[in-house]
Amino acid sequence: MFVFDAHVDTLYRLLERGETLAEAKGHVQLEHLQGGKGAQFFAAFVDPKYYHGLAMHRTMEMIDLFWQMVEEHSNILAFAGSAAEIKQAVAQGRLACLLAIEGGEALEATLAALRLYYRLGVRLVTLTWNYRNALAAGQWEGPEGGGLSKFGRQVVAEMNRLGMLVDVSHLNEPSFWDVVQVSKDPVLASHSNARALCDHPRNLTDEQIRAVADRGGVVGVNFCPAFLRPDRRASAEQVVEQIAYLINVGGQGCPALGSDFDGIDDVPGGLEHYGKLRSLEGLLRQKGFSTAVIEKVLGGNLLRLCAQVLD
Ligand SMILES: [Zn+2]
Repeated sequence: MFVFDAHVDTLYRLLERGETLAEAKGHVQLEHLQGGKGAQFFAAFVDPKYYHGLAMHRTMEMIDLFWQMVEEHSNILAFAGSAAEIKQAVAQGRLACLLAIEGGEALEATLAALRLYYRLGVRLVTLTWNYRNALAAGQWEGPEGGGLSKFGRQVVAEMNRLGMLVDVSHLNEPSFWDVVQVSKDPVLASHSNARALCDHPRNLTDEQIRAVADRGGVVGVNFCPAFLRPDRRASAEQVVEQIAYLINVGGQGCPALGSDFDGIDDVPGGLEHYGKLRSLEGLLRQKGFSTAVIEKVLGGNLLRLCAQVLD
């Protein structure tokens, strides 16, 4: 079955540790990426320690690492910048690798950077991490952090024009609602859960889930135990519960996967590494979901969104 995950921080982990993918010992290792039909968004996460003067520099290093990784392992990995290229990679038996930026700080407040990132392969931008930046405010700022700035509106409009996915994960509520109003394309929450099941500011309210789903967007379920259960004692069961809840609130077209592997310290029991993603198929089947619904959740919904926005 085709499996498409919307968010891993493997590039960040590798760069921080000075490792190559072949040497990786985190949640995502080379052996996990082989075999099976799949696609993956690799995020270039801008750590706050690089915000002051080095955000673009660090982003370039991660983009460079992405391309080195894809070229070094071209027998199993292939770059994809569209749904058509994802399908092509899968048909060749390779994992389709898509490039994302997590943190609008990477733009250093110029649309020129956004356009050049697109040319370098970036197809998704998570507008903020947890703080306020030139575009919008992250969830740690709370509602008083304000919404989308004038520049943020220009960024969303330019992303719509270029054909890039606008990611609302990490945004505070005012910024979220501004983006949903401004974006002409459906948006995605690449790695966020339902707040009704785990009351954490990184998670989405039912109104937010409906707003994303009603416009054709998707929500990638995050495996971070703190976003799955208030006591953090999460297992794959809670991931399945999140999927079931998102279907109830947003419909079958809403849920996707956004594991956050290599970006989280703890993992749910049963989902210890990337190689276990595919075990969700069996767990969803045990819960009584049909093959058609499981196909949508594990990859079909995110591929549909990519086809609509990127192609
Ligand atoms: Zn994140």
